[in-house]
Amino acid sequence: MTGSEFDAVIIGAGTAGLSAGAILEKSGLSYIILDKKKEIGVPVRSTGAVSIDWVRRIGMPTDQSIVSAEINSMSFRTDTGNKISLSYDRTVGIVYDFTKYEKFLAQKMAGKLNTRLETRVLSVKGNQIETESGTITGKKVIFAAGPQSSFGKKLQKNEVLVAYEEIRKAEPRKDYQMVLWFSDKAPGGYFWDFAESMDTRKVGVCYYPVTGRQPKDVLHEFDESFPEIRGECISTMAHQIPLGSPAEKVVAGDYLYTGDMVNAVLNTTAGGLQGAFWTGKAAGEAVVKGDAGLYQIKWDSEIRPWLMKHHNLHRRMHRKGVKSISRLMTLAKFMPMSVKKKVFGGL
Ligand SMILES: Cc1cc2nc3c(=O)[nH]c(=O)nc-3n(C[C@H](O)[C@H](O)[C@H](O)COP(=O)(O)OP(=O)(O)OC[C@H]3O[C@@H](n4cnc5c(N)ncnc54)[C@H](O)[C@@H]3O)c2cc1C
Repeated sequence: MTGSEFDAVIIGAGTAGLSAGAILEKSGLSYIILDKKKEIGVPVRSTGAVSIDWVRRIGMPTDQSIVSAEINSMSFRTDTGNKISLSYDRTVGIVYDFTKYEKFLAQKMAGKLNTRLETRVLSVKGNQIETESGTITGKKVIFAAGPQSSFGKKLQKNEVLVAYEEIRKAEPRKDYQMVLWFSDKAPGGYFWDFAESMDTRKVGVCYYPVTGRQPKDVLHEFDESFPEIRGECISTMAHQIPLGSPAEKVVAGDYLYTGDMVNAVLNTTAGGLQGAFWTGKAAGEAVVKGDAGLYQIKWDSEIRPWLMKHHNLHRRMHRKGVKSISRLMTLAKFMPMSVKKKVFGGL
């Protein structure tokens, strides 16, 4: 093979692409990961919160050097006053330092991956991947280009959340490391306050952009009623989160689609890192075994059912906005504590 021919070309060096790359790196097959960005892990693309049970189950990294906070108590609230709060005697979630986390995936999890940055993919025709700096051939192409990529399905307003987060200078909360507020001001999503460091917290909002209002304005308006989340803003992050039904087909011939491109996002929490990691890994494994169809089988039998459970619950939760969430919270209060802890801690 020449320097521009690979067994697999991966488009996107986010969680999904890097997770696929880690599998290929270990296999000895030739591969390359292309990304338009200048640096792995920049810009920050995620709050980085994940449930520890799932992280362990699918083999995501837990190295202390990439974890900025651990979660062992959490509170789910409505802005109308209902709430469920839980404390655990163990860590149930972690918050990654996102830049360190992506760099870890690219450099340490399986060794240094073969990435080519500052390389925008312009088009893909057959096995030819046209980039700004020339054409590359891939026997298989793993698409991991994130939400709203021109290589994926165009999402409608009711299929994608806008998300905005500020890192704020503020002391850690004394009560919980994670608070989510559901509100009609954030249809389909929620406001959040996550622990980050001893003097910073991550405060944000995500919602279906049906009102046309800017997320920054929506978050700042929320601050007025909840002064506990106020603090000097140090940095901001904004992006989109696909939030609809997971795709049915993830493989088409030599093409394998992963991560946000196939809506591998847990609709209840808008968490997509685990789905991105799992789909990237499954796509990589299928390529290594020489049968792309194995990825579709894994998707149909394990990944999609997991996502569908969250998708259906999300629809129930938000059917009548905050009213239905409040009702479900009231019902959940009658669950035995052990069940409640398992359900909420495993999200
Ligand atoms: C504000 C916010 C907070 C979030 N918080 C959480 C959280 O706490 N927990 C959680 O689990 N999930 C969270 N998510 C969701 C999660 O971040 C995403 O689901 C996940 O990062 C998707 O990974 P991915 O690899 O599919 O896509 P991405 O991480 O978007 O990676 C796609 C990559 O493809 C590259 N690319 C795109 N087009 C091209 C092209 N033409 N040529 C070359 N490169 C290209 C991009 O530069 C990018 O690096 C959050 C999302 C947002 C927006």
